[in-house]
Amino acid sequence: MKVYLHSIGCRLNQSEMETLGRQLLAAGHEIVNDPAQADQVVINTCAVTSEAARDARNITRRIHRDNEAANIFLTGCYATIAPDKLAQIEGASRVVTNQDKSQLLHILDPQARHDLPLYEQEPILREFLAGSSGNTRAFIKVQDGCDNRCTFCVTTIARGDSQSRHLGDIVAEIQALHAAGYREAVLTGVHLGSYGRDLDNHTTLRDLVAAILAYTDIPRLRLSSLEPWDIPTDFFDLWQNPRLLPHLHMPLQAGSDAVLRRMARRTSRASFRALTDAARAAIPHLNLTTDIIVGFPGETEAEFAESVDFVREIGFSRLHVFPYSSRPGTAAARMPHHLPQALKKERARQMIALGQSLSHAFHGGYEGAQMDVLWETAVGAGAPDRHGAALKWVGYTDNYIRVHATGPVNLFNQITSTRLHSARADGMAGEIEYLTSQLPAQ
Ligand code: SF4
Repeated sequence: MKVYLHSIGCRLNQSEMETLGRQLLAAGHEIVNDPAQADQVVINTCAVTSEAARDARNITRRIHRDNEAANIFLTGCYATIAPDKLAQIEGASRVVTNQDKSQLLHILDPQARHDLPLYEQEPILREFLAGSSGNTRAFIKVQDGCDNRCTFCVTTIARGDSQSRHLGDIVAEIQALHAAGYREAVLTGVHLGSYGRDLDNHTTLRDLVAAILAYTDIPRLRLSSLEPWDIPTDFFDLWQNPRLLPHLHMPLQAGSDAVLRRMARRTSRASFRALTDAARAAIPHLNLTTDIIVGFPGETEAEFAESVDFVREIGFSRLHVFPYSSRPGTAAARMPHHLPQALKKERARQMIALGQSLSHAFHGGYEGAQMDVLWETAVGAGAPDRHGAALKWVGYTDNYIRVHATGPVNLFNQITSTRLHSARADGMAGEIEYLTSQLPAQ
């Protein structure tokens, strides 16, 4: 079969589609990058905002219009909270909720083996890496679901309570991915901080990270997103190991204690400040990014101003700004004083502008710095240099600065020492100095 996999939303959705892709390859099928060529299509949907839900509907209709013969399977959070609605979309062949998502391989191919030993998977992992143009990082699902009840959040409704994978399975998977050529692993989950709490031996996220650093050779280990609570005081000591990358995405969501209480967030301005101070003290070159919701029900001008001030005080390097989106079944949807769309849009505009100035300031601090960059995506032809033909590349430093540079055509998944020289709105421009990993033959 030719299978097209599409993921909307978070890194967890992406990691689930990557795993399915590797399983399908192992079963002898082909992963295609163009839905028009596919026999089967899987769309992993997201329900976090009404925009994400609309994207799922539009993508389904578009793929069906361009390829009526393909079977389209809709899975993920939106498919879980609105299965009947999605089943009625033109082109939708079947809706598979999150609870049945692990059966997707069997649904697509009942003969496929689920349990191929990791050592047998290496050639498949290598093929997947080579085929996944633009994605050198392996997203590893370590945990699913969440036991918190933030009032705006639909994820707990769609994914249920927290469940953790066993530490040994995760370590083995990362070792196999490294053996297959991956240089970076990103730990993903819904609430990483609760990792292991549901396991018999009450392993913790700290134990997991320490085990990956001790028992695998992966050069770069990154955490995807970390809620700002349930973090033990000695957690940041782990960053003494330079393979653990100095980038933390900690969703603040609001900078007003009153709004945080209405959101039922288990954090406050004071505890968030203390946590980021501790992280900055322990982790050199830390890049701190966050999510912010503006226009939460009842958010006054004063509360919004508090958010703006607190975001500026913490000095994040990147903000993901979301105008509040009312989600069915959440407590916040039933709250009074929902704000007009125009006001939410205006507050988002202001918060985004602040984010851009903070981002520029953060990148400005790295002008002239020499840093290792893992190159991911070729974005176009570049001016040939003494190495011969060249391409324009995009890659990331260890602390998640997005870097643009011109380099040889075979730079995919290579790490080079790079001189960063000018800040851009979306990162920095750089000059490749020398390779810190052997270039594959041209
Ligand atoms: S911590 Fe809150 S926002 Fe995050 S997944 Fe859980 S309920 Fe949702």
